Amino acid sequence: MARYTGPSCRLCRREGKKLFLKGDRCTSDKCAIVKRNTAPGQHGTSRKKVEEYGRQLREKQTARRYYGVLEKQFKKYYAEAERKPGITGENLLSILESRLDNTVYRMGMASSHKEARQLVLHAHFRLNGKKVNIPSMLVKPGDVITLREASRDSSKIKELIERMQTAVVPKWLDVDRTNVVAKVVAAPAREDIDFDFNEQLIVELYSK
Ligand code: SF4
Repeated sequence: MARYTGPSCRLCRREGKKLFLKGDRCTSDKCAIVKRNTAPGQHGTSRKKVEEYGRQLREKQTARRYYGVLEKQFKKYYAEAERKPGITGENLLSILESRLDNTVYRMGMASSHKEARQLVLHAHFRLNGKKVNIPSMLVKPGDVITLREASRDSSKIKELIERMQTAVVPKWLDVDRTNVVAKVVAAPAREDIDFDFNEQLIVELYSK
């Protein structure tokens, strides 16, 4: 399945909640969910009874869209979450949080997952000293993410470093804001994720 390239706000309206896909606009009153929280399309305003399967599907789509993950990759993460000891739903969220693009987003260097993905694709970061450009790479405790020296001169990166100084960082990351270095100090836990997921619905969907 190809990556979705249509309007981001349409995805939020589909799920009926903010997925924070457009950076600062998402916290402003220009947000489409604030202005018009109806499903997209001709019948978007009509109320539909959502069955159990529909709720499970919507929750999976919410998680997928929030993290910017394609269906096939999401299924792989789920299979890995099932194999790991512990609670499958929580394992799944921990894996999604551990993506390199999400880590860059959480360290405050990007205003959205999409922007973080672009930064990783353009190889602005190093992982444990090595050049990386794969947003789906998973980080683990002990890993260190640094900004590439050559990237510091870019005006865009300077802007992002400025933004990072006031970002709220989850406790699984230890961030040195001056040097733009993030160390993964633990695997992301359920309570570190402030988005309102109902991961049990995703587990029910895949358990059918
Ligand atoms: Fe979603 Fe952000 Fe658009 Fe609001 S502004 S609808 S949160 S993408």
